[in-house]
Parts: sequence; C-alpha cells; structure tokens
Amino acid sequence: MGVPFDNVTMSEAIEQLQGDLERPGLSRVAFVNADCLNLASHRANYREALLEADRVYADGVGVKIAGRILGCPVQDNVNGTDLFPQLCAAIDDGSTRLFLLGGKPGVAEAVKAWVKKHHPGVTVCGVHHGYFKEKEESGVIRAIAISEADLVLVAFGAPRQEVWIRDSLRGTSVRVAIGVGGLFDFYSGRIPRAPKWMRRSGLEWTFRLYQEPRRLWRRYIIGNVVFLGRTLFRRVTTPSSFPNRPEVQES
Ligand code: UDP
Repeated sequence: MGVPFDNVTMSEAIEQLQGDLERPGLSRVAFVNADCLNLASHRANYREALLEADRVYADGVGVKIAGRILGCPVQDNVNGTDLFPQLCAAIDDGSTRLFLLGGKPGVAEAVKAWVKKHHPGVTVCGVHHGYFKEKEESGVIRAIAISEADLVLVAFGAPRQEVWIRDSLRGTSVRVAIGVGGLFDFYSGRIPRAPKWMRRSGLEWTFRLYQEPRRLWRRYIIGNVVFLGRTLFRRVTTPSSFPNRPEVQES
C-alpha cells in the first residue's frame, strides 16, 4: 500500500526499541492497521509522516490478511496495546524516563498509576492530556523537554499523533516517541479490552465496534471493505511486488 513496515516479531520490536533508547537521536515509531493504511492513501501529511518514521509495525488482523493475499506474510501482530506491558518489563530497571501524553484529562494519570504498580522501575516523569489548545502546544513541548523523558507515548489517535511526533519532538532529547492511539483508555481502565480469545482470533475490532458503534462503524464496516478492495486491486495490478512472493510462472 506504499507504506514500508518492519516485518518483525513482537520480541524483535522490543529489542529494536531498547536499542533506540540507548542511542542518541529521535526514533519515531508508528503502528499501522487497516484503517491507518486507508487514511494514508488520501492524507498526504500522514503518509509522509509514516514514510519518515524510523519504525513502522504491522498492527492487527487486516494487515495480516492483506499480507497473505499479497504474498508478503506478516510475521506478527505488533500492536501498541500488547507491546506496552512488554516494553515496560524490558525497561523496568530504572534506566528510562517515560512521558505519557494524550487521552482525556485524568486518563494519563491513571496509566501512570498502572505503570507504578506493575513496573516500579519505570520512572513516569510527566503526564499531560491530549485536549490542549494550539496556543498551549509550546508549553506541552517544553514540559516534555524539561522532564528529560527518554520515551514518550503519544495517544492522540492516527493521523494526528504521527504528524505531531514528526513536527514537535525534534528539538528535545527524547529518544523514542511512539504513537499509541487508544492505548491509554485500556490501561487506565476507562475502556475494557476484548477478552483474550477474541484478540487471539483477530476479533478485537468487533469488540471495539460493539463498545463504540456510533464512533467506529465507519472505520470498521466501511473501512474494512475498502481495505479489502484496495488489497485485491493491488493483488491483481502488481504481480510479484515482494521478494518472498512465489514467482509468477511464464507459460
Ligand atoms: N485523543 C486525544 N486528543 C484529541 C483526540 C483524541 O488525546 O484531540 C485521544 C482519545 O482520548 C483516545 C485516543 O486519542 O484516547 C484515540 O483513540 P482511538 O480509539 O481513536 O485510537 P486508535 O487506537 O483507534 O488509533
């Protein structure tokens, strides 16, 4: 779909991020699911932010199905919500300062409490909600810089978070900035996550649709059909796009 991604397993992704946390310079990290790829097809600034990102991970069952159809098998479902506790476990040694930005007022504070309880070795050096006005933005960026955060999770939803990370965090000493969508809503307990069997079967999206049908029906019902259509179109129009795709036999 024109957005290159890191086709890695969850544990390889964690290793990559740990490496990025040890290196100076900002590593911008995004997760792309089917909805993100639909958005990237018509929002140029989002597509550019994804193309400029240092790590892009394949999130969810839609991308996995597309990979199968296009002969580019996706190794793992590397989504932010599952990655977060594993990343916290990997950095639970006092070495990393974490800033939580986004969500409704009070939500990032609740995620901070979750981190403190489950991973006391991770220092949460700052939190801020995601509903600030444009004129307050420089204050938020300054708060991140003053906090000396190494890792910033930005939970504004796509595409705003990816564009914001690209445009706003360059001048800080942040090493890894990750766009995490609705992650804070889950870890704060604001929205319950789908049961494990649904997640394992690739049905988490149906649970989210059931929770917030008015907000999400367009994204999931129409979006999934559009994404499947775009995948099939690409399958027909671009034979042999990937190195590991079986060769097309000449007759
Ligand atoms: N959000 C925010 N500021 C905004 C709009 C949204 O902080 O101006 C937050 C919102 O509270 C939610 C997250 O961004 O926590 C987006 O969640 P969504 O479920 O849309 O993200 P997804 O995981 O589906 O990308």
